[in-house]
Amino acid sequence: MVVFQHDLIRKQTLHRPETQAPKLAPGADRDHLATMTHPDFTHVTAWVFDLDNTLYPPELRLFDQIEARMVSYVMDVLQVDRPTADTLRRKYWAEHGTTLAGLMQRHDIDPLPYLDAVHDIDFSVVPADHDLRARISDLPGRRIVYTNGSRFYAERVIAARGLSGVFHAVYGVEHADFLPKPEQGAFARVFSRDGLEPTQAAMFEDDPRNLAAPHAMGMRTVHVAPDRHDAPHIHHHTDDLSAFLDGLQRLPVPAPAMPEQS
Ligand SMILES: [Mg+2]
Repeated sequence: MVVFQHDLIRKQTLHRPETQAPKLAPGADRDHLATMTHPDFTHVTAWVFDLDNTLYPPELRLFDQIEARMVSYVMDVLQVDRPTADTLRRKYWAEHGTTLAGLMQRHDIDPLPYLDAVHDIDFSVVPADHDLRARISDLPGRRIVYTNGSRFYAERVIAARGLSGVFHAVYGVEHADFLPKPEQGAFARVFSRDGLEPTQAAMFEDDPRNLAAPHAMGMRTVHVAPDRHDAPHIHHHTDDLSAFLDGLQRLPVPAPAMPEQS
């Protein structure tokens, strides 16, 4: 019975059509800290963060757990062997943006049981990051998470990371009617739901594909990943999100002019 109720709550969480603003932690909504002094970010009033491999480093390999569950799910639902399921998982991710989008479009898969199953992972490997919490809390304006996973999953990662109460809203793929990033329509639906003005917002993402639409919509784009990926739609790159956010609030001071040699 307890398990059933838990599942019911999870479903309701996923289905809930309107996003409720999470309660912010004391001191987290410090809009008076309007100190974005980096010239590329002074206009930014909304900060949008991807979740996986952006708010935690890829070396945690959280997505390995999810991918293993995706393969099992594809095996079960399509009645194929493991190598075929893994091939389809990669193929749909490449061609549709997410494995789920491919399963929905090609096999009419129900997204809700899928999202529950693949995100039922071990979160104990995710450490809290108090420095990141402070850096994000200091950002002036609205702070949002937007993931191709579900909001239920995102909230669990956020909690494990010690970031609960930091964000004004958390959006999952369900808030874009299961249309995934990198589709521009997915961003448009989530931003419209949020009331976010893209030309006054910045997007932080580890997947370069998912920065193309934000760039086209007028957002400032930041690629968060160990390796740089140069592309016209990527404005900035960092392999350390906390350090990057910290740097936004400090104007680079020009070096003093050297005295003329006599
Ligand atoms: Mg990601």
